[in-house]
Amino acid sequence: MKILLVEDSATLRHVMCSYISAAGHEPVVAESGEGALQILEKNPVDMVIMDVEMPGLNGFETTQLIREWLGDHWIPIIFVTGRSEDSSLEAGIAAGGDDYLIKPISQIILNAKIRAMARITEMRKELSDLNDELTILSQRDGLTQLYNRRTFEEKAHEIWKLSQRNKEPFTIILLDIDFFKLYNDHYGHLAGDDCIREVAQTLLKCLSRAGDIVARYGGEEFVAILPNTPERGAIHICEVIRSAIERLGVKHRASLVNAVVTVSIGASVVNFTAGTDLEFQIDQADQALYKAKHNGRNRCCVKEYNPKSKILVIDDCEDAIASLNEKLRQHCSIISSCEPDECIALAEEFRPDMILLNMHLKGLNGQAFCARLQSNTVTAKIPLIIISSIETSELKALTEQVHATSCLQKPIDSEQLLAKVSQYIHPH
Ligand code: GH3
Ligand code: MG
Ligand code: MG
Ligand code: MG
Repeated sequence: MKILLVEDSATLRHVMCSYISAAGHEPVVAESGEGALQILEKNPVDMVIMDVEMPGLNGFETTQLIREWLGDHWIPIIFVTGRSEDSSLEAGIAAGGDDYLIKPISQIILNAKIRAMARITEMRKELSDLNDELTILSQRDGLTQLYNRRTFEEKAHEIWKLSQRNKEPFTIILLDIDFFKLYNDHYGHLAGDDCIREVAQTLLKCLSRAGDIVARYGGEEFVAILPNTPERGAIHICEVIRSAIERLGVKHRASLVNAVVTVSIGASVVNFTAGTDLEFQIDQADQALYKAKHNGRNRCCVKEYNPKSKILVIDDCEDAIASLNEKLRQHCSIISSCEPDECIALAEEFRPDMILLNMHLKGLNGQAFCARLQSNTVTAKIPLIIISSIETSELKALTEQVHATSCLQKPIDSEQLLAKVSQYIHPH
């Protein structure tokens, strides 16, 4: 072990160094707390033996700084001091020390302490290795060693957020083995397990780009996420996977479509993540998979989600809607309604990029309706712009009160309207 000895007295340094060497360890020496910090910055050590009384930084202060600097990485720190009061020992432990020796120190005691501390270090390392192993195990599927579904979901959300932030395309692939029930029935469950493993390995080999995520989604279904992959790339990679699995040549005499094991693949691609969400995209991939199955299996189907921007206008004034339509026609399409239930249904079905709500509609309580939009999982995510003719400061207060994204004052100014809209809809 490398042991850092921090001691201002030259005599003691000399003696303790000889003890450390005699015990079979390598001493590294610092003459002060400051010196110890400098050494630790460049050279990792396994243990520290620290004098308490030193000019400049004392042993307790130095220890506190070392602990802060090392963070989660623990090494034992043993104090050596001339003071034997209880309060001094207590202060040493509080500062982050692990043991406390009173001078003069015998070679035997020092040796024993070093051995005891080394044992603790070893145990901590074993525990931490075990913890790492457990983390890996809990993330993986036992049969294929791919990520399990729970891990997939965590990672998928992370990648989704990143794609949103970077405005990058996003591809999800779902893969399902064809006629696998028949495979099990014909070859037995153990052979079925082998087949799942082989498919998993092949899939993993095809998706080797850093950032790609592959997971076992369920029984004989797999899922992959390909960040920053547009439609052309998705179509290409799906076909690479499909043909690689066919070329594995795993015999499947019971299959109704081929003599070997094949897969059907459904993928969804979104070029711009605004206006949609991960769950919807997974659902799109699932629909594409269903289509691939329906069209004869052993094939890929890629669905691209490329929404034209949409705005839902909640107003009853024909003129106001017509005027908005005219102002926004080149930028997006407008859906409108003034009936609360219908508004929610429209929002759920069309997922507008933005909702414009007239707060003073007949038969509609504006504030209650805002609350309703915000408690609905689909509509809560959509930017909500409230419209009212009340004066500016009141309108601002109301916007905050109903937790709207922003507001527009009536009569609506064209330029302001376009500025607001371009904040929330994406180009196409
Ligand atoms: P399709 O082409 O429509 O996908 O037909 P299929 O028979 O593959 O579809 P289905 O979903 O009906 O069957 C899936 C089968 O996968 C049923 C189940 O017994 C089997 N399965 C699920 N998990 C495992 C597993 O871990 N090992 C084995 N050997 N079989 C599994
Ligand atoms: Mg001293
Ligand atoms: Mg299935
Ligand atoms: Mg299947």
